[in-house]
Amino acid sequence: MVERNWAEINLAALERNLRLIKDSLPSHVRYISVVKADAYGHGILPTAARLMQSGVDLFAVANVKEASVIREMGSGWPILILGPLLEEENEALVELDLIPTLSSHIELDRLKALSQKYQIRISTHLKIDSGMGRYGIWWEDAPELINEIKKCPEIKLCGALTHFAQPSDIEYTEQQRSHFLTVLKNTQIHNEPEFWVHADNSSSLRSFDRKAIFNAVRIGLLQFGVSPPQGSILADLPVEPVLSFHSRLAMIKKLPKGTSLSYGRQFTLKKDSSIGIISAGYGDAIPLASGNHAFGLINGQPYPLVGRVTMDQTLIDLTDAPDGIELGQTVTLIGRQEKREILLTELATQAQTIPWELLCSITKRVPRIYSTKRE
Ligand SMILES: *Cc1c(COP(=O)(O)O)cnc(C)c1O
Repeated sequence: MVERNWAEINLAALERNLRLIKDSLPSHVRYISVVKADAYGHGILPTAARLMQSGVDLFAVANVKEASVIREMGSGWPILILGPLLEEENEALVELDLIPTLSSHIELDRLKALSQKYQIRISTHLKIDSGMGRYGIWWEDAPELINEIKKCPEIKLCGALTHFAQPSDIEYTEQQRSHFLTVLKNTQIHNEPEFWVHADNSSSLRSFDRKAIFNAVRIGLLQFGVSPPQGSILADLPVEPVLSFHSRLAMIKKLPKGTSLSYGRQFTLKKDSSIGIISAGYGDAIPLASGNHAFGLINGQPYPLVGRVTMDQTLIDLTDAPDGIELGQTVTLIGRQEKREILLTELATQAQTIPWELLCSITKRVPRIYSTKRE
C-alpha cells in the first residue's frame, strides 16, 4: 500500500531514551512509564511491548480501557490508573489486576466492597492534591483519609503521589512538594517496605532531590524524545525524537501575484509563485494554527506553509526552491531530512499549542510505521 502520510516511530530511540533517563537518576529511583492516550500517539501496543523489554518498573495509564490493552500483552506487569474511576469500572480492577489511585472516602468504600466481594486485598496508591486542584485528596484532609485506610485490612496502601501544576515556578513547586512531604511525615505511610513515593514528571525533574524520600518518577513526554518546553534538569539529556511525521508533495502549480490562498484568504501572493500541495491537513496531523507559521522540509530544505491548513491539503511556497523538486517527494513536517530537523516542540510553538496536545492530534488516518534505526 502506498502511503501519502505516515508517522515513523523509532522504537530503538525510545529504548535509548529510557536508558538515558534512568542512568541520569539515582539507582534507587524506579521508572514509571506513562503511556496514556495511546502512548502519546505512538501506539500503545508496540510502544509498551518495547518498554517492557527496556526496564520499566510500572506502567501508568489514564483509564481502565488503556490498561486492558497492556494487560492483554501479559499478566504480571503492574499497571497504575492515574485518574478517578467510574463506579462501574471497579470490577475491571479485579478482572485485570490493576492498581487504582485513591483520593477520597467514596473510593475507599468502593474498594472495600470490591475487596470483600472477591476476597482479595487491593493495592492502591494515594493521590494527594498539594496544589494542582485536580484529582487527589486535598493535602490537609489527607491524614484523616489515611487513618481510615489504615483501619482497612482489605486495602494495601503501597504508594503515594502528587502532581505539580507549574514546574517552571520553582517556588510554587517546592511549596507543593513540602505540603506533600508534610503529609508523609505526619502519617509515616512511606515507612512500609517497597512503598512508592512519586511526584516528578518530565517537566519537574529539574527539582528532583536525590536525597529526598521520593523513589520513583512518572515519565511521559521525555521518553518519547521531546524535551518539555519549560525545561527540566534533564532537558540537556540528548534524548532522540521517537516520532517523525511525513507527507507527500501531491501537486505543484504556478499562481500569479495577488492571488489569495486557501480558506479565509489569509495569505496573498506578493509575486508570481510556485505553490505546492501537501497531501495532509489537520485531518492528519498538521495543526490548523500552523498555517503561515510552520515549515515543511523537502530535500533537506525548509519551505513555509502558506494559507490556512485544510482538512486534507496544506499549501507550501516553493517559489524560491531550486529546480529538481518532483511530485511525490516526501515532505517532512516533524523530524529530520538530511541536516535539517523540525522539532515537534517547534511545530507546537508555531501552532500555539503544547507538544502533548500535538502528539494527541495525530489522527487515526495516519499509519504508524515502526522502525528500529540506529543513529
Ligand atoms: C500525564 C501525566 C504524567 C506524565 O507527564 P509528562 O509531562 O508527559 O512526563 C505524570 N503524572 C500524571 C499524573 C500525569 O497525568
